[in-house]
Formats: sequence, C-alpha cells, structure tokens
Amino acid sequence: MEENSNFIKTIMKDDLESGKHKEIVTRFPPEPNGYLHIGHAKSIVINFGLADEFGGRTNLRFDDTNPVKEDKEYVDSIKEDVEWLGFQWDNLFFASDYFDVMYEKAVLLINKGLAYVDDLSAEEIREYRGTLSEPGKESPYRDRTVEENLDLFERMRKGEFANGEKVLRAKIDMASPNINLRDPVIYRIAHVTHHNTGDRWCIYPMYAFAHPLEDAIEGVTHSLCTTEFEDQRPLYDWVVSNCEMESTPRQIEFGRLNLTNTVMSKRKLKQLVEEGYVDGWDDPRLPTVSGLRRKGYTPEAIQEFVKAAGVSKGFSTVDEQMLEHFVREDLKLKAPRTMAVLKPLKVIITNYPEGEVEWLDAEINPENPEMGMRKIPFSREIYVEQDDFMENPPKKYFRLFPGNEVRLKHAYFIKCNEVIKDEAGNVVELHCTYDPETKSGTGFTGRKVKGTLHWVEASLAVPAEFRLYEPLIRDEDLKEEGSEDKTFLDFVNKDSLIIENGFVEPNMEAAKPQDKFQFFRHGYFNVDPKHSIDGKLVFNRSVSLKSSFKL
Ligand code: ATP
Ligand code: MG
Repeated sequence: MEENSNFIKTIMKDDLESGKHKEIVTRFPPEPNGYLHIGHAKSIVINFGLADEFGGRTNLRFDDTNPVKEDKEYVDSIKEDVEWLGFQWDNLFFASDYFDVMYEKAVLLINKGLAYVDDLSAEEIREYRGTLSEPGKESPYRDRTVEENLDLFERMRKGEFANGEKVLRAKIDMASPNINLRDPVIYRIAHVTHHNTGDRWCIYPMYAFAHPLEDAIEGVTHSLCTTEFEDQRPLYDWVVSNCEMESTPRQIEFGRLNLTNTVMSKRKLKQLVEEGYVDGWDDPRLPTVSGLRRKGYTPEAIQEFVKAAGVSKGFSTVDEQMLEHFVREDLKLKAPRTMAVLKPLKVIITNYPEGEVEWLDAEINPENPEMGMRKIPFSREIYVEQDDFMENPPKKYFRLFPGNEVRLKHAYFIKCNEVIKDEAGNVVELHCTYDPETKSGTGFTGRKVKGTLHWVEASLAVPAEFRLYEPLIRDEDLKEEGSEDKTFLDFVNKDSLIIENGFVEPNMEAAKPQDKFQFFRHGYFNVDPKHSIDGKLVFNRSVSLKSSFKL
C-alpha cells in the first residue's frame, strides 16, 4: 500500500512500537443482506492487507444483529468473494453469537445509572432529539430508578411489550453538540425470528451499541470503517469504556470508494436483481465482486485498483476507466491472444484450392513469448467482420472494399474482387483472391497494405456468443434522479447488454468457464460460467483494448 497516503498503517506501526498492542487484529464485518461490491473490496483489501503486513489477524464477522430473514446465500457468497479476492480469515464469527454478552452489558449500564427504559414513541424521540443548532429535550422517563429500569428491561426481554412500545436508551447528554450522544437508543423490541437465535430474543441491540462490543469481544485493535461513522466515534468509545470491556479497539475511518457510471448501495443493487433488470447478483454489469469476476476481472486487478485509489480520508468517486486500466494491465501478459469474429461475413478465396486446410503458426502472446505458439487453420472459406467491409468507403478507409487489398493477421494478403448480395440487397459474401507470396512470417516486402484484419477459418470455426456491455446507469442520466418522481430505476440503460453471434478459432473448443482471452482488435473476454453450458460458448467482454485513461 502507498507509503505516504496510508495513515492507518502509520497508526498501527506506532501502536506496535509503543507496545500499546502486541499484535494487529482487524475485522471485515459485512451485514449478510446482499452480495459484496467493489466498495467492500476496498474494505477487505485494507483490513486483511494491513493485518497481513504486520503479521496480524483478521476476522470475518457477519454483522447479523438485525433480525432479518436468514440468507445463507449471502453468507456463502461473501465467503466465496473474500477468498476469491485472495484473503483468508483467521476466525469466522457471527455477531448474533454475542447477544448474551450484549444483554449483560446493557444491564451493567442500567446498574451504573447509564441507561434507562423510555416509553416515548419513535416519533417523539426524534422530536425530543433537537437539531444541530438546538439542544435536545430530556424524556420524562429519563429519571426512572435503576430498579424500575432493570424490571422493565427484563420484561422487555420476556416479551411483555409490543414492538416500539419501549426502548432502552443510553443516558449520556441531551445537550451534546454531537447528536449521536443525545441518549441514543441501544435496544429495541422486535418480535421477529432471527436466523441464528430463532425466537430466543425479542429485543435486539442497535448497531451503534452492538458494533463496538463486537470489536471489543474479539480483541480487535483497529476497527476500520468508512467516514460516515466519524460522528459515531465518541459513542463507540463511550460504549467500550462504560461497558468495561477488557480490550479497547480504536475506530479509524477511511473514505468510501465509489465508481462512476454505476450504483453501489446494496439496497439499489438488490432492487436491480429482484426486479429483473439484471441477470442475478453476478450480472457483469454490476459492481459486485461476483459480477466483476463473471465479467473477467481478476483479483489481482481489483487489488491493484483499490491500492491505487488510495486509503485517504476523502470520499472518492473513481473513474471506472481506472479499474479497466488495471484489468488490461493484469491480463496483458496472462491472456492468450486469439481471433474471434463477432459479426461474421463469409469470404471465399476463389484461387485457394478446394478442400485444403493449411495450419499457420502464431504466437500465443507476443508480449509474453514464454506462452509458446499455436496453430491456426486457413482455407478457401473464412469469416471476417461485417464491420470490416464497406462497399462505398470514405477516404482513408483501409479495410475491405471492392478492389482493395488487406492483410489477414497471421496469414496472407487478400484482395476483394466481387460482392455477393441477397435479394434484399444485403451483402452476404465476398469473393477475394489471395497472394501465396505474401504469407506471414516469410519476410515478404514486395508491397505494403494499410489494413490488417482478423478472421476465422469457416469449416472448423466454433460458434460462440459474445456479450458486450455498456454502463447500466450513466451518471449524467442520474442527475435527473428525484425529478418528476423518478428513481434510479428509470435511468437503467436498456441497451447495456449487446449480444452478437459469431465464431472463434477451433482451439477454443477446450475453453472452460472463467478462461480469459484477448481477441485481436476486440479486447479481453471471459468465458461466462452461467451460460456456457452443453458445449455452448458464451464470452463476456471484460474490457476493450484501447483507452484514453491515464493514471
Ligand atoms: P452499502 O451501503 O453499500 O449497502 P454497507 O456499508 O451497508 O454497504 P456492510 O455490509 O455494512 O455494507 O459493510 C461491510 C464493511 O464494508 C463496512 O465496514 C463498510 O464500512 C465497508 N464498506 C461498505 N461500502 C463501502 C465502500 N463503498 N467503500 C469502502 N468500504 C465500504
Ligand atoms: Mg451497513
């Protein structure tokens, strides 16, 4: 991680050197209510990465203190994503396992006169809270005796009251300039079955009370979170100290990561998935870890991206092109090069012998010669890209048009002589001739051509589907969100998935889900794990080749 920008690393180093801590312990605490996204990846890289650097430990803790419906699917996907990103937790915990301790700590606060049962409604509590410029008002129930509070809290636990009828509040300071300290609610009643604890509890701790306790129970030394929790830090410290926790974690905030041209909050992602705008949580258009994986992004690229985006305090919206940059950088040396025709146009090479197939030599990756060589078939019938032909081209068009000669990558020069059309006037075939003298690799210098096209031999070509992606939601469109009752769903780009059907080289028959390739001129592609079934090949474009992006 960047030496200077990482203030968290400096704090940890100091804490080890001063002897405050013997070991660094961090945690990644997702709420299992959705899949992880690239923002979580930042938190994972920071938490696991920093602990690793200091030889410390990191817990994966499911923050399940909210009695939401169990979703094992989310728990499983989170574990899979963390591991895929390249990290291994030292312990796996569920915050709901600490409910007993949390209850005891709440009782301790009552006994110390630092918590009380309040009968005000949620709305009244809000009204009494005051504003940034005005102090809050004390609840009429604030001065209940310890005995009365103990009794009422016990009866809350036993289920004697309905949801919302009573809450437990910390007794801090209704006039505090920090609104979070104006007697925050720390327990509420919810008659809901919890996925882990079943019906054992009908009162549940609030996040601001539960989270510091969870950290302290686990002996976390540095509790890293995003900056929206900065104002909660005094409360965090208040809870740890007044609950007399043995270990004192320190909360440190860093800036949230956001990407351009997408939505990031789990709530919105969930809506897109549940309302069928996308093909599941792992749709390649989503910024979820599983979506990026299916799109062909690599853990290495995501890690490098997160590190480059930095750990500063600032809230950063990072250009998605920066992420794409790191994907290209990582795949450059890893992905085999091959040719694919996305929108095929048949070409007959009229002077090439019928029934003959020759095998040409090509490097698997010219930028990484160690990957070796491959063989490409060539014959009388090939496919080229429809977009590489124009009957009436503009000036400076160097691809195929009647009378023009081009180079076929790894093969020969061909010249277009005749254009065959169907009854509707669509071009369906080109008749060309090739020049055997011009074979690639023989050092031919007789004449030059300006265009080099990719192609695939027709008789052995493997059919494939190609999925090209555009942003699902564009920032410029989202500016109108909220106007005329529009929500972000009104701005979903209906043309964000483009499907083409074409061909790849025969050696691709062996391609497996998640294999990655660079298709000459088209970009990097990943074999889709969901749709490549029963011998069908579906490729997701990870990223195109060129970009104007500069780091
Ligand atoms: P969202 O707001 O997207 O629904 P969340 O914060 O509710 O996410 P949690 O499951 O509570 O999701 O997050 C687990 C951890 O990941 C937290 O420590 C949180 O601070 C961190 N995190 C979440 N989103 C981001 C982000 N965009 N950038 C950096 N860290 C993030
Ligand atoms: Mg959250």
